[in-house]
Amino acid sequence: MKVTENLRKIQDLLALETQSAGRPAGSVQLLAVSKRQPLQAVLDAAGAGQRHFGENFAQEGIDKMLATGRNDLVWHFIGHLQSNKTRIVAEHYQWVHTVDRLKIAQRLSEQRPAAKGELNVCLQVNIDNEDSKSGLAADEVAAVATKVATLPGLKLRGLMCIPAIRTSATEQREPFARMRQLLDSINEHGLELDTLSMGMTADYAAAVQEGATIVRIGTALFGARGE
Ligand SMILES: *Cc1c(COP(=O)(O)O)cnc(C)c1O
Repeated sequence: MKVTENLRKIQDLLALETQSAGRPAGSVQLLAVSKRQPLQAVLDAAGAGQRHFGENFAQEGIDKMLATGRNDLVWHFIGHLQSNKTRIVAEHYQWVHTVDRLKIAQRLSEQRPAAKGELNVCLQVNIDNEDSKSGLAADEVAAVATKVATLPGLKLRGLMCIPAIRTSATEQREPFARMRQLLDSINEHGLELDTLSMGMTADYAAAVQEGATIVRIGTALFGARGE
């Protein structure tokens, strides 16, 4: 099966990159980005051992997670999050990577059902200051992190970014290195963030070199997406 084969290749590459970066084996988690992929793609990947899945559209992901009939999968919301979608996200997902303002975090915290435990969240950083992308400016992150860390329904895990497109591996590392420095500087101020969600199909090797703990991969695993 194509997905099984792709999964094995990505896992091998991740293991090699992790080792060449001098990082412990298994320190990078693969998030399978299944947005706009059919249910069967998720079932194939899950059958091959993949557990973590990422979705960009709240309802599409919920439909899929319920349709799998499995309760051993972990679902991450990685799309732009609007206020009117926070409730369904807080009720169904285990992670949100794209918290880009305090208000969204407050809503997720209030709406998280107690029985589900804390919702894992990352703050999205607009690391290249692009008008087209959401996310906090790097110099706003520490102040927002300090507040989000106190919200009872959430567990603040770390930072996420989608850098501008760069072609060479050397150039790709630069924004990821700034993300790592940002995480380190926040942790020096008393937080214990353990997650850097960064790297996609085109740049995940560079992200692993700079300390990514979650890489979000769609195309390399599932092929091109539907419309
Ligand atoms: C679509 C998407 C991905 C996966 O992108 P690929 O290039 O297909 O690997 C990762 N992260 C986010 C936030 C996305 O929207």
